[in-house]
Amino acid sequence: MTKRIAIFGSTGSIGTQALDVIRTNPDKFSAEVLTAHTNEELLIRQALEFQPNIVVIGDERKYHKVKEALAKTHIKVFAGEQSLDEVAAMDCYDFMLAAIVGYAGLKPTLQALENGKAIGLANKETLVVAGDLVMQKAMEKKVPVIPVDSEHSAIFQCLIGESRNKIEKVILTASGGPFLGKKPNFLVNVKRDHALQHPNWSMGAKISIDSATLMNKGLEMIEARWLFNLQPDQIQVVIHPQSIIHSMVQFEDGSIKAQMGLPDMKLPIQYAMAFPHRIPNKFPRYDFRKPGTLTFEEPDIRTFRNLVLATDALFKGGNVPCVLNAANEIAVFAFLRNRIGFLDITEMVERTIDKIPFIEKPTLEEYFESDAEARNFAASLIQM
Ligand code: NAD
Ligand code: MG
Repeated sequence: MTKRIAIFGSTGSIGTQALDVIRTNPDKFSAEVLTAHTNEELLIRQALEFQPNIVVIGDERKYHKVKEALAKTHIKVFAGEQSLDEVAAMDCYDFMLAAIVGYAGLKPTLQALENGKAIGLANKETLVVAGDLVMQKAMEKKVPVIPVDSEHSAIFQCLIGESRNKIEKVILTASGGPFLGKKPNFLVNVKRDHALQHPNWSMGAKISIDSATLMNKGLEMIEARWLFNLQPDQIQVVIHPQSIIHSMVQFEDGSIKAQMGLPDMKLPIQYAMAFPHRIPNKFPRYDFRKPGTLTFEEPDIRTFRNLVLATDALFKGGNVPCVLNAANEIAVFAFLRNRIGFLDITEMVERTIDKIPFIEKPTLEEYFESDAEARNFAASLIQM
């Protein structure tokens, strides 16, 4: 029997790579649900190739075009944000690959957990916004949340067989992004196209900017806290520009386990989909005999202050990570449209965190409200 996969965000960088994995393993996986926000052309092509049960197009104006293109098939077509939640609540799939970008991924993922479905989680923002409630729901429903983010997949893999052993700390590796070694006087002038050029990974626009500002690593610290039930001070970030070690776990006896390999997101994607099994593939292998150096250094937090803001949010908890995430989404969106400069991203996030009232133990409703308030305030800063 094949595992029936629902890919939420099938037209993105993670979504298309997940479909590559399904294409090469048709005996193991089938694509049962595909969803896209605006790219209806790609969604239609994917649907015709993979013949899912259901597709969802977020943008309702595109419903008729998708419906018409799939008229000769049995594929059901839904449209609109609400449909994402409705489809997540259905029983036609076994495993959700949560590959929507940003806060928009939270509700469908919660719905899938409520529905008792296992999750492969690429959408880190879900845990940054409401990690306590999301993991609580997963526990309550006894369903696994398997990380797809490469660092967290690495940690997850290092922890296999260690359930009785205490973690001393986890070491999240960071490539440093395209501006490693640069200083503020350089960063003040960088433009979107430069910031979108990541040295080791080809990813969606939002995460590429987050990698350039190091906010991505900050979000990942918060993601790790919830996935692995860690205390904030157990999480350390180290810059490792070659991206061969994907992250490490240090145990009580000082022993360190690392998970390594060439950087290729298809590996953590297929690992999450096939877990607890490993499946063979033909991806290129890392060769230790070839000349090459693995290097490590401390992050430059005076330049990349997002990492400080995110670390503060991690320690403060409550609604602060949710506010940080919302402000960052607005700021990155504005930067991608050339409305603000690179360093303004940090400034906007900082000012928004200062503005929005602290809530120590938010309900889900309060997380939604904090998100909305933070977005409004951050957006108001752009007009000036
Ligand atoms: P992307 O921008 O390439 O794709 C995003 C997907 O989400 C698309 O299918 C898009 O249609 C959909 N989408 C966007 N906005 C939406 C909305 N408002 N409502 C519904 N659907 C929406 O992004 P990506 O790079 O694939 O990243 C997806 C997630 O995975 C992010 O949370 C990212 O942090 C995480 N992630 C990505 C990578 C990577 O290599 N790309 C690595 C680790 C983690
Ligand atoms: Mg990552």
